[in-house]
Amino acid sequence: MTVVTRFAPSPTGFLHIGGARTALYCWLFARKMQGQFILRIEDTDTERGTPESVQAILDAMQWLNLDYDTGPFYQTKRLERYQETAALLLAENKAYRCFCSKERLEKLREQQMANKEKPRYDEHCRESNHPAEGSFVIRFKNPKEGTVQFHDLIRGTLIFNNAELDDLIIVRSDGMPTYNFTVVVDDWDMKITDVIRGDDHINNTPRQINILHALGATPPRYAHVPMILGPDGKRLSKRHGAVGVMQYREDGFLPEALLNYLVRLGWSHGDEEIFSREELIQLFDIKNVHKAAAAINPDKLLWLNQHYIKTGNKEQIAAELAWHMQRLGIDIGHEPSLIDILHLQQDRCKTLREMAEKSLYFYSEITLSDDLIKQHVTVALLPALQAITDALSILTNWQKESIHATMTATADQFQLKLGKIAQPLRIAVTGGTVSPSIDATLALLGKKNTIGRLKQFLIKINAILH
Ligand code: GLU
Repeated sequence: MTVVTRFAPSPTGFLHIGGARTALYCWLFARKMQGQFILRIEDTDTERGTPESVQAILDAMQWLNLDYDTGPFYQTKRLERYQETAALLLAENKAYRCFCSKERLEKLREQQMANKEKPRYDEHCRESNHPAEGSFVIRFKNPKEGTVQFHDLIRGTLIFNNAELDDLIIVRSDGMPTYNFTVVVDDWDMKITDVIRGDDHINNTPRQINILHALGATPPRYAHVPMILGPDGKRLSKRHGAVGVMQYREDGFLPEALLNYLVRLGWSHGDEEIFSREELIQLFDIKNVHKAAAAINPDKLLWLNQHYIKTGNKEQIAAELAWHMQRLGIDIGHEPSLIDILHLQQDRCKTLREMAEKSLYFYSEITLSDDLIKQHVTVALLPALQAITDALSILTNWQKESIHATMTATADQFQLKLGKIAQPLRIAVTGGTVSPSIDATLALLGKKNTIGRLKQFLIKINAILH
């Protein structure tokens, strides 16, 4: 039988990295088994869900390159199907209308709490034959006896007592189906063979299995993935920093690095840390996903990101760098090429955001700070700086090596150490004191820009130091 998995996010915010890891596991499992991967948007909670969140999920899936074979399906477009299925359960006496008022249920709850009992519905309407008038919800008739058992691919066999499960609402009084019901109808209709989801849903699974049985459907296999924790061992949340996938993009991470990082949070293959997509498809096994929750490790992600920056496909990385440059308002329609920037900066930057921020001077005007000039330049250096400007102006072969040779020759001529003129040059062309080696920086900046900036610099230092 062809494997069919689904990722079924509720669009109530951005795509959280926990959700992204679940999506990745579903995707990997489908790809490994040469099956199908479905995206389903669980948007029936119209109060909490927003179109922006749907878009954020689609954008994140695309950026991560987790391609789906079918979908996205939207539950709000399938309301008729849920209603029809609820009607079927009613007709077969497997569900019933419940007319209990909010007040009654509240009282019941209070009583149960006072008696130290677990709050649950008392089946008041289960056998009554109330006509279908007025306000009601539809409840599923959960079996009263016996157990529900399933073999979780990660956690092993799990057994629940039916006595613990009450009669769940499957359709609310406004006619909207509830989560547990839509999931069941969809998993059934979409012929899902393997449900891989967060373990916060583990208590829903026996309920869903009971409804599936009532519908005459065979339940899928289930795998419940443990949650992701912050470095402090607490459930990952915004206070730990970035949690949304697109925030990681904004912070300068590559999708390959984030995926590689996420897959390792809860799964391992020997001591290996780095896996290509192809290797993952080959090696990933849902059975090897760890039972225990994993804590994020930001240093590991930075390390992986730099690895992918250095070794990944240069065109793809340059395209991602272009996105960062555009966000910073930089026009990258002219030289130097971002591929050249990447080669120059890749050993120095752990993220593309850092790389973009450290490469602004190649594309936009710089500002020269008087203080910086005063710290690094003295009147005595002026003749040497004028000489290097003149020498570079007549240099025809604008290459790193010849620039280096010109600088060395000028330093020798003035009996200066190379560093003495390198740092003022760096300030002159970048506006700061940190850059890749100055010869490579000048080479990439181009002759025209270099000479233009050096001349401006000379004018400025003459004005400041005299
Ligand atoms: N929509 C649910 C959620 O976002 C997931 C449901 C499922 O995978 O069964 O938590």
